[in-house]
Amino acid sequence: MLGKLFRIMHTAPHAVVGKHFLVKPITVQYPEEKLTLPEGYRGIHVFDIERCKGCAACARVCPNNCIEIKVSTTEDRKKKIEKYEIFLGRCMFCGLCEEFCVGGDVIRLTKDYEVAGSTRKDLVYDIKRLSRHKEEEK
Ligand code: SF4
Ligand code: SF4
Repeated sequence: MLGKLFRIMHTAPHAVVGKHFLVKPITVQYPEEKLTLPEGYRGIHVFDIERCKGCAACARVCPNNCIEIKVSTTEDRKKKIEKYEIFLGRCMFCGLCEEFCVGGDVIRLTKDYEVAGSTRKDLVYDIKRLSRHKEEEK
């Protein structure tokens, strides 16, 4: 009886390991390999300054107060975006800024999720960084 129990205890783990030899792994070798993200995944923003109306609706709707925008008016009464920053350290990627954007997709969330930094400043995305993102997305 004890011998039988020992044999079961001895072979059961091997059977489990053996079964997994035949199953395709669900893990990937990140960062060399990356998972295919589902449609609608919300990652780092992309911002199109040329199309922005400077209305600040995105900043007002943001529940975490992540967006800072400064707008001036030119002599010919056009709006000029002086500053547009998103503090990703506080962003919860809810997508409300995109949803309520008056210009229509001027601010948009991409599938890029690699947000990392060692200081607060590293997580502040200004116009240049958000626009560069646009270049990379093409
Ligand atoms: S995704 Fe949400 S939390 Fe992040 S900036 Fe947009 S509105 Fe704010
Ligand atoms: S809501 Fe859209 S158009 Fe208005 S300031 Fe924000 S990004 Fe620009």
